[in-house]
Amino acid sequence: MSDTLEAPVLVLNRHFEPVQLTTARRAFILLYGGSAQALDELGETYDFDLWRTLPVREDDDHIPIIGGALRVPRVVHLQRYDRTPRTTVRLTRRNLMFRDGFQCQYCAKRPALRDLNIDHVIPRSRGGADTWENLVTACRVCNLKKGWKLPDEAGMRLARRPFRPKWTMSAQILLGTRSRFKEWEPFLKAS
Ligand SMILES: [Zn+2]
Repeated sequence: MSDTLEAPVLVLNRHFEPVQLTTARRAFILLYGGSAQALDELGETYDFDLWRTLPVREDDDHIPIIGGALRVPRVVHLQRYDRTPRTTVRLTRRNLMFRDGFQCQYCAKRPALRDLNIDHVIPRSRGGADTWENLVTACRVCNLKKGWKLPDEAGMRLARRPFRPKWTMSAQILLGTRSRFKEWEPFLKAS
């Protein structure tokens, strides 16, 4: 049951735009508190009292409640929340590696994840910042070879100039989870 309550639930704003993922636990709190409605696979919206009357079908995750079982929603809608999600991509190790296609930006190899590092193009010791433009994915070998040098000094070249990615919220949400639910499809357009 704890796994069930940790399952990802897609949160939509008032305009049915994806905002973020939350957990089923949090989604139930929103639903029960009346700030969110749950959506079924047809896009119909339900408040808590209606949702609890829905039957639990074979493929549904559910939690036991007094007198039966409660279907876990995959999508909830915040009727009063109309902010558009900020689409600034967070600077994280994972996002950097996604941007670089898990490929060393110096030798173009794609080693196992454990052999990939994040390299400061201008080393920190020489004032290089933690920015999209100064961080690249590098294999362990290239990372060691480069050490505290600039690429030129180490006789190395970047495959391409590092940049700040412009991913849609949909893309970011999908990158952030391994789960895929068919109920998400109408709202998460891959782009
Ligand atoms: Zn390399």
